[in-house]
Amino acid sequence: MRTETKMTLTSKVLIGMGLGIVIGLAINLLGLNSEGSFINEYIVNGLFLIAGKMFVTSLKMLVVPLVFFSLITGVLGIGDINSLGKVGAKSFVLYLLTTAIAIAVGISLAILAGIGDGVNMTSVATFTAKEAPALSSVLIDIIPSNIISAMAEGKMLQIIFFSILVGISILMVGKKAKAVVELIEIGNEIMMKMVNIVMAVAPYAVFALLAKAIASLGLGLLADLAGYVVVLILALMIHLFVTLMGILKIFSGMSPKIFLKKMRETQIFAFSTSSSNATIPVTLRAVTKRLGVNNSVASFTVPFGATINMDGTAIMQGVATVFIANAYGVELGLTGYLTVILMSVLASIGTAGVPGVGLIMLSMVFTQVGLPVEGIGLILGVDRLLDMVRTAVNVSGDATVSVIVANSENKLDKEIYNNPNAGVLNDDSLDISEKVEKELADMVDKTYHSK
Ligand code: ASP
Repeated sequence: MRTETKMTLTSKVLIGMGLGIVIGLAINLLGLNSEGSFINEYIVNGLFLIAGKMFVTSLKMLVVPLVFFSLITGVLGIGDINSLGKVGAKSFVLYLLTTAIAIAVGISLAILAGIGDGVNMTSVATFTAKEAPALSSVLIDIIPSNIISAMAEGKMLQIIFFSILVGISILMVGKKAKAVVELIEIGNEIMMKMVNIVMAVAPYAVFALLAKAIASLGLGLLADLAGYVVVLILALMIHLFVTLMGILKIFSGMSPKIFLKKMRETQIFAFSTSSSNATIPVTLRAVTKRLGVNNSVASFTVPFGATINMDGTAIMQGVATVFIANAYGVELGLTGYLTVILMSVLASIGTAGVPGVGLIMLSMVFTQVGLPVEGIGLILGVDRLLDMVRTAVNVSGDATVSVIVANSENKLDKEIYNNPNAGVLNDDSLDISEKVEKELADMVDKTYHSK
C-alpha cells in the first residue's frame, strides 16, 4: 500500500512548466545550445524535441475519434433537435461576440500606448503570406465529400457536421439502433480513458516542450519589441481576467476563481503546445469532468470553439495591426479599424487552431485594409513565443462559452463546478482494479472457448 502523499497532476504539470522554463532559459543564456554542441544535438534537439513531439502527436491522435464519439453521444444525450440548434446558435453568437470584443480591446490598448512609432524597419525578417480560405469556401467546406478523408485531415467543422448528422439519424432510427448507441457511448468512455493515459505523462512532456522552446528561442527577442510584447500581453490578460471572467459571472453566475483554478492545467497544455486543436482532449475533459458541463453541450462547444473561436489570436491581430500601421506611417482611421474587426472575426471562422495560424489570418486582414503584408516580418521573431500565451487565452474562451451555454440550457452540474476535487487526476487515476482485470479476462476466455 502506498503511503506517500499524492500530488495532483496539476501540481506536477506546474512543476514541469517551471522547470522547463528555468532549464530552457539557463541553456539559452549560458550559450549551451550552440550549433553542433552536445546539448544542442542530443538534449534540446534530441531528447526534448522527441519527447515533446511524441506528446503533441499523442494528443492529436485522440482528437478525431474523441470528437466523433463524444459528439454523437452528445446529440443522443440532448435527444431534442431544437435544443441542439439552440446550443449551436448561442455558442456561435457568443464566440463571435467575444472575438470582436477581444480585437477591439487589442486595438484600443495599442492605440492608447501608441506602439510602433519610430520602429526601425531595417531588421525586417521576410514574411511570405499563405492563402487564407475565402468565406464562401469555408461555408461549402463544412460538408465533407468524403468523411474518411475529412477525418484523415482532421477537418474539424466537417467532422462536427458529420457526427451531428449521425447522431440525429440514430435518433430517427430509434430503438433498433440500441446496439450502436451502446457502442458509441462505450467508445466515448474508452477515449476519455485514453485522455487520462496521455495526460499522465504531461508533466514530463510539458517540461520538454518548454525547455526546447525557450532554449531555442530565448527571451531576449521579446526585449527587442518590448512595446508590442507588453501591450499584447496586457491586452490578453485584460481579456482573460476582466472580459471573459466578467461575462462568465454575469451570464452564468459561476465563480471566476474556481473557473481559473480548474482551467489552469488546460491553459498550460495550450501554452506548451501552441495549439487549441491538439488541446481539445484536455479542454473537453476539464470542461466536463472538472467544470460540470454536460457532455451534450461540451462535445459540441469545445471542438467548435477550438476551430472558430480565437480570442487571443484576435487580440494579437488588433495589436499587430496598430503596431505595423504606425511603423509604416499608415493612417487607418475608424473605417479601417472597423474593417479589421470584421475581417478578423470572419478569418477566425475558417482557420483552425493550430500553431502559427494567427499570422495567416493577419495577412488576410492586412490585404483587406491595404497594409503591407511584408510588415508582418517585423513581429515574426517573437510570434512563436506569443503564440503560446494567446493559445492559452483561446482555450479559456472556449471553456467560458461552454459554461455559459450549458448553464442557460440547464446542462451545468453546479455541484461538480463547485467541488474542488471533481475530476482531479492523481496517481490512482490509472489504476486498473484486480477485480475488473479478472472479470474481463474471464469474459474474453468464455467468448474464446464458446467458439
Ligand atoms: N496557436 C493558436 C491556436 O491554436 C492560433 C494562433 O494564434 O496562431 O489557438
